[in-house]
Amino acid sequence: MSSPIISTPIDTGWCFDHSYAQLPEIFHAAARPALVRKPQLVILNRPLAVFLGLNAEALEECADIFVGNVFPNGAAPLAQAYAGHQYGHFTTLGDGRAILLGEQITPSGERFDIQLKGAGQTPFSRRGDGRAALGPMLREYIISEAMHALGIPTTRSLAVATTGEKVFRQEQLPGAVLTRVAASHIRVGTFEWAAARGDKAALRSLADHTLQRHYPHFVDAENPYLAFLKAVMERQASLLAKWLHVGFIHGVMNTDNMALCGETIDYGPCAFMDTYDPATVFSSIDQHGRYAYGNQPHIAQWNLARLAEALLPLLHGDEKQAIELANEAITGFQTRFKNHWLAGMRKKIGLFTEASEDTALIQALLEWMKQSKADFTNTFRALSSESSSSFSSETAFQDWHQRWQMRLSQQPQSASEVVNLMRQNNPAFIPRNHKVEEALDAASEHGDLSVMQRLLTVLSKPYDHEQELPEYSQPSSSEMYQTYCGT
Ligand code: AMP
Ligand code: MG
Repeated sequence: MSSPIISTPIDTGWCFDHSYAQLPEIFHAAARPALVRKPQLVILNRPLAVFLGLNAEALEECADIFVGNVFPNGAAPLAQAYAGHQYGHFTTLGDGRAILLGEQITPSGERFDIQLKGAGQTPFSRRGDGRAALGPMLREYIISEAMHALGIPTTRSLAVATTGEKVFRQEQLPGAVLTRVAASHIRVGTFEWAAARGDKAALRSLADHTLQRHYPHFVDAENPYLAFLKAVMERQASLLAKWLHVGFIHGVMNTDNMALCGETIDYGPCAFMDTYDPATVFSSIDQHGRYAYGNQPHIAQWNLARLAEALLPLLHGDEKQAIELANEAITGFQTRFKNHWLAGMRKKIGLFTEASEDTALIQALLEWMKQSKADFTNTFRALSSESSSSFSSETAFQDWHQRWQMRLSQQPQSASEVVNLMRQNNPAFIPRNHKVEEALDAASEHGDLSVMQRLLTVLSKPYDHEQELPEYSQPSSSEMYQTYCGT
């Protein structure tokens, strides 16, 4: 079927700009969503729509927009080009199943990419069909919105709509499109793409665009590109620490899935850890644990080293000096990460003050959790309660608890202040894998969205410790959980 050119006649509040499209041609290709048979809106994120300056009520009637059959006013669709290291191997990629409609300017003047994921083939689709199935798109919706509610920078989900067509995977599945909202979709892989082409002018344009868009305060720095690299690293260090603080495993931290704006992007085989073990992996294809929970900070550093390599021609006119600057910056990542990690972990155990023994105290707790196969989220939740000492009768835990109480007594804050701090930093609810699967199953197999709606409501208030909802806080009874790529 041919593609649409018409725009919606209803005033739905779209206010598009197209700054990315101004970049040199190597960064994008024209792309049009494929017309689909029977668009149906499955879910619309009304609060997000309002935040973006959109008319949520009118959009409820606009399934056509959310599959790409109708363009919102001012949209100028394109697919973005990028490369990336996937599981350590360089490859050229690009949006094979995502189409950028443009950048929505919000009432407060912020700029967000509006992207249709699963809207059909683009010049970068290679052998792929450009489509997506309902289950994985709803999964991205649930997890990204949960991450947002947890206070973790992330792309967001505005809507999911079904196409009325089947997609062919191992089986036939209902086709769907996710409308994704991101500060931008510029990735480490976008820079790798420019560098691989050896096009220094294009690389500079991309760096200037990204600097202006996400780090405008460094535009006038003495060496703006070095400042840019360090600022990207700082945001990633903070982001990775936040992932670890809630037990999040991204699962596919390829360089094309690392966004320079510092948001978590591309929810494929991701999942939250139940039992604490740094070696935890959920993705069926991550057989060597490259993207295991505890390995994520190292991989982030590895990815950032690829960014630094791509930026070399801009860091210094002399290559040797450029390499020195890049190396020095990248080496600093571990310290940056540790600082964020430790600051967050202190809050998780109620520490307002800093003492040299804190790292050892936290490590001792984690060691005990690993040995006794404790649930990550529920352990910290239990520690946040007044009766924390009864959490486990094991001697090792009791010894640790005493040590912790001693440490707490060295700070001036009251017990209730400590509990408050802990409750603000230890979620009561995370997207438990079996609850996510249950919601997806009801939606995909039975067209019942009520299970997902209930889950989304719980996940929208993850720090609400007043609610006792054991159904949502218990880990799954089965240990084995696998997630899949290429969905
Ligand atoms: P991802 O695993 O979602 O990060 O995707 C990696 C690459 O594969 C990106 O370039 C995607 O655009 C592409 N891709 C994933 N699924 C499809 C599909 N169904 N059709 C075309 N390209 C795809
Ligand atoms: Mg990706």
